[in-house]
Amino acid sequence: MVKITQEIDLYEKLLAKIKEITILNNALGTIYWDMETFMPKGGIEQRSEEIAIMSGLIHERVVEPEIGSLLEKIKQHNNYEKLSDAEKRNIYLIQRSYDQQTKIPKDLVMAYAKQAAIGVEIWKKAKAESNYKLFQPELEKILELTKKQAHYLNPDKDPYDVLLDQNEPGFNREIIDKLFSELRDGLKLLIKDTVEAPNQPDYSIIERKCPVEIQKKMSEDMAKLIKFDFKRGRIDEAVHPFTSGYYDDVRVTTRYIENDFSSNLFAVLHECGHALYEQNMPKKFKYQPVGYYCSMGFHEAQARFFENIVGRSREFWEQYYPRFKELTGEIFADIEFDVFLRALNKVNPSKIRVEADPVTYSLHIILRYEIEKELFAGKISLDDLPKVWNQKMKDYLGIDIEDDAEGVLQDTHWAGGGFGYFPDYALGNIYDGQLLWTMEQDIPNWRDQVKKGDNSKIVNWMVKNVHQKGNLLDALDLIKEITGEELSTKYYLDYLRKEYKKLYSL
Ligand code: ZN
Repeated sequence: MVKITQEIDLYEKLLAKIKEITILNNALGTIYWDMETFMPKGGIEQRSEEIAIMSGLIHERVVEPEIGSLLEKIKQHNNYEKLSDAEKRNIYLIQRSYDQQTKIPKDLVMAYAKQAAIGVEIWKKAKAESNYKLFQPELEKILELTKKQAHYLNPDKDPYDVLLDQNEPGFNREIIDKLFSELRDGLKLLIKDTVEAPNQPDYSIIERKCPVEIQKKMSEDMAKLIKFDFKRGRIDEAVHPFTSGYYDDVRVTTRYIENDFSSNLFAVLHECGHALYEQNMPKKFKYQPVGYYCSMGFHEAQARFFENIVGRSREFWEQYYPRFKELTGEIFADIEFDVFLRALNKVNPSKIRVEADPVTYSLHIILRYEIEKELFAGKISLDDLPKVWNQKMKDYLGIDIEDDAEGVLQDTHWAGGGFGYFPDYALGNIYDGQLLWTMEQDIPNWRDQVKKGDNSKIVNWMVKNVHQKGNLLDALDLIKEITGEELSTKYYLDYLRKEYKKLYSL
């Protein structure tokens, strides 16, 4: 630590302010978690007031002029160059967030928050009634507000590029266009091969009724298998599974569906993948900007790695199947291992993104990305949106959408203004392919370890290479540092082809 001045350490003073903001944000996170898990229904109005007040207090602190002046003084100080790389990165990240938060006028922040809340409420109703026309005016309003916001952030840049960069710093349409067109072409071929293959897996096995009490035991097994720390975390139930928390208090949620045990099972692996990332952040950076995750794409990569690459692998199930059979007794007693494994990995083009298998999943994302891009470029009108959606579903997945609730209205993201976020899910897959390729060089026998039920080596590999790096680098730099290569779709596509050709005997 270099003292920026003799009398008062400006850097320490700035970091103390950031620590307070981080703590307030974590407290707000717990309030949200409670709202989605244990809060009685009647508490919603009281809770929304608590959230509004807390958010306002946090925002005031984030845009406090003293943060700006401390940043200035530190950067102009003679000792600035003597700060470590991590300290300089903290300054950079604080400046980036301060610039973003202070550029947007307060009345726009408020109008946006209000519209997002209304938009989500009306979206719920529109989805329940499958009535796109009801939702369309709200979508138009939030789209306009988002464009305004992007303009304030950077008037010289394309608004959609501004949003992409906010979600995944360093990304723009040019980078994503290239990655996604390779991914799309590769996936379409693989889907064709698997869907047309003779000897299709029998998915009805997965739909056998499995009591929630048994599924709860599986949740605990899954979390323990991938080294989720129960002393610093817990698992509860929520309608839409999510993870919240940081370092020593990380909370995972799941949901139980009696006639699809796999929904809970993969949700737990996915959310515990997110949780591992948070539980294993570098302790020395706690409460600092560098002690955060790298990007949402990297977060999704952690979740999807444990859900799909590990959790759907033959070796993982060779190890767990005896215990699975012991827990489920008669339910799956007649099912041979290979039949079960193939059912669990069936490639099944379907309407709903959150239920999609790993092979078709990214196409759901690419479709949304292409639509967002064209919406911001003014190339498609909101009147035509359902038609465009349905046509793309037909082109990419061969699926007919008859009902907007299962089409353009299925996700909540746009209602709340979450434009530019969808690409992160598919980027997570692409990171995963490249991380796996590198991990296989470091731990060539990782599959044997998994087969023995010992996942510590692969978890530790992630801890060392990803979790412990916190937010020291932007995503494109981090993937290059870990793997020695620029981000490429090649590794993810190779992995999928290899796995699914085996499963489908192609
Ligand atoms: Zn996730």
